[in-house]
Amino acid sequence: MAQELMDKVVSLCKRRGFIFQSSDIYGGLSNTWDYGPYGIELKNNLKAAWWKANVHERDDILGMDAAILMHPKVWEASGHVSNFIDRYKDCLVCKKRIKADDPRWDPKRPNWCPECEHDGLGLTDIREFNLMLKTTLGAVEIGGMEAYLRPETAQGMFVNFLNILDSRHPKLPFGLAQIGKAFRNEITPGNFTFRTREFEQMEIEYFVRPSEADSKLAEWIDYRFSWYINLGLKKENLRKRPHAKDELAHYALACTDIEYNFPFGWSELEGIANRTDFDLKQHSQASGKELQYFDDSTKERFYPYIIEPSGGVDRSVLAFLVDAYNEEKVRDDTRVVLKLDKDLAPVKVAVLPLLRNRPEIVELARKINADLKKSSVSVYDDTAAIGKLYRRQDEVGTPFCVTVDVQSLEDKQVTVRERDTMLQERISVDRLKEYISGKLERVI
Ligand code: ATP
Repeated sequence: MAQELMDKVVSLCKRRGFIFQSSDIYGGLSNTWDYGPYGIELKNNLKAAWWKANVHERDDILGMDAAILMHPKVWEASGHVSNFIDRYKDCLVCKKRIKADDPRWDPKRPNWCPECEHDGLGLTDIREFNLMLKTTLGAVEIGGMEAYLRPETAQGMFVNFLNILDSRHPKLPFGLAQIGKAFRNEITPGNFTFRTREFEQMEIEYFVRPSEADSKLAEWIDYRFSWYINLGLKKENLRKRPHAKDELAHYALACTDIEYNFPFGWSELEGIANRTDFDLKQHSQASGKELQYFDDSTKERFYPYIIEPSGGVDRSVLAFLVDAYNEEKVRDDTRVVLKLDKDLAPVKVAVLPLLRNRPEIVELARKINADLKKSSVSVYDDTAAIGKLYRRQDEVGTPFCVTVDVQSLEDKQVTVRERDTMLQERISVDRLKEYISGKLERVI
């Protein structure tokens, strides 16, 4: 059942232009995905909603955008060169690579493979593998420099700590926020866009006095949890999972994951960690630049602690797609509808002429569409009969359809149909733009 839901979402994504396999015409590059016309709108809307809630609506967070490529010394100081590793074993029978911390391993059967279930036929010892993707800068033949594609956006914010202090003079507690690509040479990518080697992160580094780290961590866990719910994820599909001590990353004192109940099981959407003063201290030491904060009021100099809410854009998009997917029986038909929040919906309104062979109707519909485009994302479609046009918009989550009919030519009114209820209302063309804008406005 759960797999069926996942298959339906993957198929909808391809069929309607949300997400495609990368390099499809060449047979595809596995576990690599491209966002199509609806996918990029959804992804951009999600990032905009995150930016609004975490940067624009707050006075204590500043945005930034660091380069993907950084000085290789950053990754030595951060601990990634020595610690960002995965451990795995290879099964010599089924040739599958399985992580050493995969929960399916049976401690009582050390030679049993959880993939092919052979016992005693051959597993390698545990091997270690660094997850960072390497690249070479400059011409390789004349001694190019080895660099990494960043495995997290966080370090770009730590190394700019001084620049931010010197240019903006923020007072503690304050944060930096960034959205950008990250790369990890994952051993076991999969589950569609859930785990890939190239992905996007939305990260906040929130600098606090060490004494307030615990309370700020708790605040951020609640704040971030509510964000997903306010944007439409069902509460029963979300949970907070504190990390056990032996699960914590090398830099973290505490961490809680926000998990979503994906069709393949509860899995991490976002991690919120107390990174302590680890990063600022490490970079101070390695760079020789003092990254302490000077508190004007107490005349103290110290390394702030860092609370880090770190989420994945692609994982969130996937969670919102799965959560919004609905099938409803309408008379003898099945209606597929994406009940996405209006802020996330790729298209906000579709203008549909009831009869495409009546030039006056088409002309009025096109005029209405052009007008709506000035304040919203509106599309015009006349390539099928009205029932089919509605279904198409339902499938991609368009909250409103506007239908222009023969009557509209006389009474200058159109029908507005709401996606979730399918209720229809006659609205005068003069008031339409204001009506739609009002409906799309966020009330929370
Ligand atoms: P996981 O345990 O699933 O590998 P992680 O704990 O290593 O994730 P973090 O380092 O906390 O992940 O990264 C922050 C966020 O970045 C994650 O919560 C997730 O949303 C996203 N993320 C991490 N790795 C990937 C990936 N390979 N593909 C897609 N998103 C990812």
